[in-house]
Amino acid sequence: MIEIKGLRKRFGDLEVLKRIDLSVERGEVVVILGPSGSGKSTLLRCLNLLEPFEEGEILIEGKLIGYSVNGNGARLRNSESDNAKVREQVGMVFQSFNLFPHRTVVQNVMMGPVKVRGMAKAEADRLAGDLLEKVGLSEKADEYPARLSGGQQQRVAIARALAMEPQVMLFDEVTSALDPELVGEVLRVIRQLADEGMTMVIVTHEIHFARDVGDRVVFMDDGVIVEQGPPSQVLMEPDSPRLKLFLRRFQ
Ligand code: ATP
Ligand code: MG
Repeated sequence: MIEIKGLRKRFGDLEVLKRIDLSVERGEVVVILGPSGSGKSTLLRCLNLLEPFEEGEILIEGKLIGYSVNGNGARLRNSESDNAKVREQVGMVFQSFNLFPHRTVVQNVMMGPVKVRGMAKAEADRLAGDLLEKVGLSEKADEYPARLSGGQQQRVAIARALAMEPQVMLFDEVTSALDPELVGEVLRVIRQLADEGMTMVIVTHEIHFARDVGDRVVFMDDGVIVEQGPPSQVLMEPDSPRLKLFLRRFQ
């Protein structure tokens, strides 16, 4: 489904991703763990073509979506319209919800399908209604984002990403900004997506969630994948000293 080959990314002199190789199967849930600054968000942003990279290839369904021309900090060769098409296939949800404040909840969810996919308003409205039901927010459809809790806003953000009917969903610490009592409702929605077979790459510090929902856990440190495997193995029987040290903070 997704293949990342030899991905290198630098910010100035700092090499943030050092030849990352990673494949994700269709329907697989891959959880990425790692210390702050290890390159997790940068990896997701490269995958969504929000960030150009110096070297390597990214394929989705065998189709090359991103690559760079040489090792001199070249930009992605793709045109911006190609990149936009990729972003339709790859949904992303961030720590901050970034909803449009002057649009209602249902308008936030409908906007992508109408503006980007050219869907008729009535159809987009039905789709948004279905997605809001899925995330448990039907009764908030006509509310403005500011009147929702953080957990509710994040569930709207998930519905908005799903409205593009992506093949893959990327989640970057989507519960980090939430009060602890609101984390569960957002994780439940993600778990439901996993049960339905959605292909997902999830960056999180929720270790229990990683163990329960992840098919595979990938541990990154300092721009490399240090260790990966089934959650039971990676989280319970870590090999590398760096992963052992990292997991100690959750004990
Ligand atoms: P966290 O757990 O704190 O979110 P992370 O693993 O997501 O960390 P990244 O955000 O990918 O880490 O950052 C990796 C490195 O790249 C860090 O050293 C960071 O300072 C640097 N970095 C990220 N974005 C930029 C940028 N736009 N310009 C310069 N350096 C950047
Ligand atoms: Mg990050």
